[in-house]
Amino acid sequence: MYALLAYLIIILCFVVLLAFIYGAVREVWRTHHPGERFWKQREKKERVQKAPKAIKEPKMKPVKERKAPREVPVRPQVNRARISAAPVPVAVSIQHTPLYKMIQPHITGDVEESSAERTKYSRDTSLFTKMPQLVVYPKDANDVSELVKAANGARAHGMNVSVTARSAGTDMSGGPLTDSIVAVFTKYMNKVIAVGTEGDHGYAVTEPGVFYRDFEKETLKQDFILPSYPASREICAMGGIVNNNSGGERTLEYGKTARYLEEVDVVLSDGTQTTFKALNARELAAKQQLPTLEGSIYKRMSALISTNAKTIEKARPHVTKNSAGYALWDIHDPKTGTFNLAKVICGAQGTLALVTKAKLSLVKPQKHRAMLIVFLTSLDPLPQVVKKVLPFNPESFESYDDHTLKLAVQFMPQMLSQMGLVRATRLGLSFIPEVGMAITGGIPKLILMAEFSDETAERALKRAEDARASLASMKLPTRIAKNEQAAEKYWIVRRESFALLRKNLKGLYASPFIDDFVVPPDTYPKFLPELNALLGKYDLIYTIAGHIGNGNFHIIPLMDVSKPESRKIILELAPKVYDIVLKYGGSTTGEHNDGIIRTPYLTQMFGQDMVSLFAETKRIFDPENIFNPGKKVGGTFEDIEKDMIRSM
Ligand SMILES: Cc1cc2nc3c(=O)[nH]c(=O)nc-3n(C[C@H](O)[C@H](O)[C@H](O)COP(=O)(O)OP(=O)(O)OC[C@H]3O[C@@H](n4cnc5c(N)ncnc54)[C@H](O)[C@@H]3O)c2cc1C
Repeated sequence: MYALLAYLIIILCFVVLLAFIYGAVREVWRTHHPGERFWKQREKKERVQKAPKAIKEPKMKPVKERKAPREVPVRPQVNRARISAAPVPVAVSIQHTPLYKMIQPHITGDVEESSAERTKYSRDTSLFTKMPQLVVYPKDANDVSELVKAANGARAHGMNVSVTARSAGTDMSGGPLTDSIVAVFTKYMNKVIAVGTEGDHGYAVTEPGVFYRDFEKETLKQDFILPSYPASREICAMGGIVNNNSGGERTLEYGKTARYLEEVDVVLSDGTQTTFKALNARELAAKQQLPTLEGSIYKRMSALISTNAKTIEKARPHVTKNSAGYALWDIHDPKTGTFNLAKVICGAQGTLALVTKAKLSLVKPQKHRAMLIVFLTSLDPLPQVVKKVLPFNPESFESYDDHTLKLAVQFMPQMLSQMGLVRATRLGLSFIPEVGMAITGGIPKLILMAEFSDETAERALKRAEDARASLASMKLPTRIAKNEQAAEKYWIVRRESFALLRKNLKGLYASPFIDDFVVPPDTYPKFLPELNALLGKYDLIYTIAGHIGNGNFHIIPLMDVSKPESRKIILELAPKVYDIVLKYGGSTTGEHNDGIIRTPYLTQMFGQDMVSLFAETKRIFDPENIFNPGKKVGGTFEDIEKDMIRSM
């Protein structure tokens, strides 16, 4: 029996290895043979999409009739190079829409209204779709300012226009979706302006359209990182990181983006530009004297904060991460006496101002890491494991479940084919035990990864071993990965978990609607059984991954969204989950933010008084509701129902 299993494992590994080699060879072939059939077919498709048509008034077809892209556009450069090589058909007379005519003359960047361009931005990674009327790629902050002024001008002409910012579009809440103007930052406003050292820490000044992966390449040149980077680090950009107040695998030790945001350059709702940063009492008083929108914002916001200080402090979420609502509790810092509006811009999803530049402080990453991996066959011991491991101060404490691991094994060749041959082979071989587990049905229910960082390899390893020793009496299967290379496979599965779900399950859509709640970890013993009992009442397949050390769970059900009964579950289950989360002092969202999917639940979380203060904040910054309407303030359950995708 065991011999047979061993043979099966060897054969499977051989097949997996062949698949890597095939993937890698195909990649090399594709890169080095641009004239091959693959590119020809692709060019043909793009020529068809790109051919200018006589554009009439954009009579908006219902979004469901159009085929939305399945993928967030991640590396547009590749397509651009290909598109420019395509022969340009003879121009035909183009009739632009009134909105285009109002906006385009003011913009030095690009303004697009073709169906193909608009469709590209009709999705993020949420459950929703909205078709923008106009796509604007601003060149710089002045362009953004002109865009906002022109949008106000269009309003004056009776057009119902708004402006929604978009960086990389990986948002899971519907945050960057709009049926009006979308301003896309990744095309031009994508430069890291400076990286340097100030006192004992580093800093970087960046435009919003810089992908995190590129940002980190620059900061690492000076041995710094932004430790709040999200799991979507390869596909998301700095504008989204700041405006969602993102967190990630190192948030347990380092906190979220708001902690690192020193200054933001913004365009306000009247099109004026300013910088928000910490001000002392004298500077605040001077700002309040300004006869401008900025002056009015300072005057009214400081009055709002001081008049409602008790209500605001009472509403402060008592979890280690929160992106729900506006962070009114962070604007005034009683310790330093400063007043900092950058704190409320962080996480505001572009509803208060558009960010054109951000200054972030950076930290020096520790050089060495070791990981303790704990395999749980049921969720019962989880609370105790977390309680025992947290005192050893892991830098990260993450998890993923059996469904995620099965998907990773199933789609391993695909997952690894994006890597170089050597790395893919090394990683592929390191997965042999997991392949064995999948074959024998021995996959654990939950895999916990506690990573310890330190100045030397010995110290990091010692901490991981001490944490393991603390679990000895529980007799759980554990493993130690002595360094980052040994831990890499666990990180790959954890980071890829949501992407795996999105790509590979035909007919079922990875549906983020209870994807990001947070509870204090010491409530697990009571919270988890209640949550399990509730989820057990629904016939759902779902994966669980998340930041277990922060109490932040990513539960992603797989659903057939074309069925009305699935959509009904989404609206029925979410408030029930939040009832339990809030009963234990939690938050509806730790990092993915409110967007379309959670804005209507803000009253459930904060109560009416706080929601009124959020609405007042929005009115102070954006009296005409020109920025990203329906997110944070004014979003309804009907919006959730209306904008939800109906097909994949
Ligand atoms: C696989 C996967 C894993 C993820 N893991 C995490 C995680 O670990 N932690 C986490 O926090 N999130 C995570 N996310 C969600 C998302 O990737 C992050 O929140 C990310 O920071 C969003 O960046 P983006 O550039 O894609 O933003 P976008 O989706 O473009 O925008 C996000 C929000 O910010 C606003 N915005 C963007 N640019 C600007 C600007 N210049 N001015 C004003 N507003 C702006 C948008 O309007 C929108 O509301 C994950 C998503 C995926 C798909």
